[in-house]
Amino acid sequence: MLLLLTAVFVPYLVLAALSLRMIGQERQLETRRTVEERQRRLALVGQQLLSLLENFKLRQLAQLPPRSQGTTPGPPVDKSIAFVGLVRESRLRLPWDDDPGARLFRGLVNEARFASQLGQAGAEERAARLEKAAAMYNRVIETARRPAQQAYARLLLAQGLEKAGRKPESRRQYERVLELPLQHVDEYGVPLAFYAAPHLLGDDLRRQGVLRAIRMAAEREGWLSPAALYQARDLARTLKVSELESRFTEQIRDREQAEALQADFARLVSVRPAREPLWIAYGQPVWMVSVAAGSGGADAWVLAVRADEALRALDSTIRLAGQGEGSSLGESLPGLSVVIPATGPPPANYRQTLLVSALTLTLTLTLLAAFLLWRDVRRDMELAEMRSQFVSSVSHELKTPLTTVRMFSETMRLDEEMDRQTQCEYLDTILSESERLGRLVDNVLDFARIEQGVRIYHRQPARLEDVVEEAARVIRFPLTQSGFTLDLAVERTLPPIEADRDALLQAILNLMTNAMKYSDTSRRVGIDLRREGDDALIAVTDYGVGIAPEEQVRIFERFYRAPASQSQYIPGAGLGLTLVAHIAKAHGGDVAVRSSPGGGSTFTIRLPIGAE
Ligand code: ADP
Repeated sequence: MLLLLTAVFVPYLVLAALSLRMIGQERQLETRRTVEERQRRLALVGQQLLSLLENFKLRQLAQLPPRSQGTTPGPPVDKSIAFVGLVRESRLRLPWDDDPGARLFRGLVNEARFASQLGQAGAEERAARLEKAAAMYNRVIETARRPAQQAYARLLLAQGLEKAGRKPESRRQYERVLELPLQHVDEYGVPLAFYAAPHLLGDDLRRQGVLRAIRMAAEREGWLSPAALYQARDLARTLKVSELESRFTEQIRDREQAEALQADFARLVSVRPAREPLWIAYGQPVWMVSVAAGSGGADAWVLAVRADEALRALDSTIRLAGQGEGSSLGESLPGLSVVIPATGPPPANYRQTLLVSALTLTLTLTLLAAFLLWRDVRRDMELAEMRSQFVSSVSHELKTPLTTVRMFSETMRLDEEMDRQTQCEYLDTILSESERLGRLVDNVLDFARIEQGVRIYHRQPARLEDVVEEAARVIRFPLTQSGFTLDLAVERTLPPIEADRDALLQAILNLMTNAMKYSDTSRRVGIDLRREGDDALIAVTDYGVGIAPEEQVRIFERFYRAPASQSQYIPGAGLGLTLVAHIAKAHGGDVAVRSSPGGGSTFTIRLPIGAE
């Protein structure tokens, strides 16, 4: 059995181990492939991002002012560009610090005549001669050369009128300042219109004007100064236009980051390796900063692009990495790390599924084969066991009658004065025992013929009642000797049937012998011949040990003997019922048993009347 299991399972286990190894290798390969694919994608994204950034650089370069026009770069060429600054004397200049408008304003306000006129008007105002001051401001406005000067004087006039309680006139002046184009800024780069705006929020119509002004500021190309942005944001907040407010907040953050960049600029430049082009990640939100060789009016210039927006323009699935995650995009983009999502769902691993299914199928088939093999082997072993038991049982069965015959013959020979009646009794016993011996030998020989397939039945018309009565006659002596009574019931209306008389007799005698053997303490048996429809039924009944239901199907198998404790010491070879079943079948009928343990048994041979 162990050998069998080894033979069946060892190859399977080897197969399973090999398959598992294959699956493992396949997985490793798959992981390596995924890693390579990721690296390829990273390299590609790095290249694409680099060329996008370089493209911005080229376009922005075209916007740089000629050397003669100072250091203010043109407006950003793309909304992803957060900052452009020129480098002069190793210092990064912030474009709003060099606003030409602010410079101009400083010059005009300090012009001697204008300044002294304003100074006089201011003195009148401080001396609380407000009417006079207003008149003087009006004169300044009329005589001023430049719109910036007019606007400035107008702002002061409006303030003066407000103080003098001439509200409507004051508001009119403020309105006029509000209408000024945004490039009219003061020395801090704040549009003069923004100073008028807070005084005009009182009624709806004027609020519209203020809103228009800050909307224009938000959409204006160029670099509003931080001070201007703070004012614009405050106005947006007062007007409750959150979209504009957040836009200004964002721009303020950009300005602050640019100031930080200005402070860090020397350090940033010092880390520049030889590699070109180079874009260094800086700050939070991340800017990609590049320093380009000088051109126009500068030693060098600096461009900063918002990394998230640039990446989004390339591929919306890629995002900037947070702390401690992501992968670098190469040496040209130091400090930048991104997260690239897995490329779609992993491909279904058909080979793996196939292997696992094949293994499962093989296991099922192996188990099935092992089961069938095991069943066959067990049957063979059982049969071999039964055969060896058969030989010893047959020898034992033959010995009993032989001993009786010998014992009685010897007694008769030694006792010469034995009376006639005893002699007759002895002779009857010897006759009955030799008949039993004959039946036993017949059973064994017939069984051998059946096994070889050469058992022949000689059928002739026979009357079943004769056969049954003959059986009763043959068995009567052993029955009475063992103290049995026989209930014989024979229906005499049955027609003769084509049958092998001797075979039927053998079958009935086998059943009768069994009935006696398995009667235990009961001393009654019965034979019953009757007709039922088109069948003749021969039933042999006893009231003995009976047969358990699960045994009833097996007792007709060759050599089979029920393992009940009572029948353990009863001689038998397990052939009787096999022969009965064969004979019944050869006559077109069958044999059935009805029995319960301890309640006796009835074996019924059913033969069709008129069967061939
Ligand atoms: P055996 O030589 O053992 O009697 P059989 O083929 O005649 O062989 O019977 C097979 C088995 O069936 C017996 O061993 C016995 O267990 C059971 N059997 C047969 N006839 C009877 C019966 N009348 N009552 C109880 N058990 C019986």
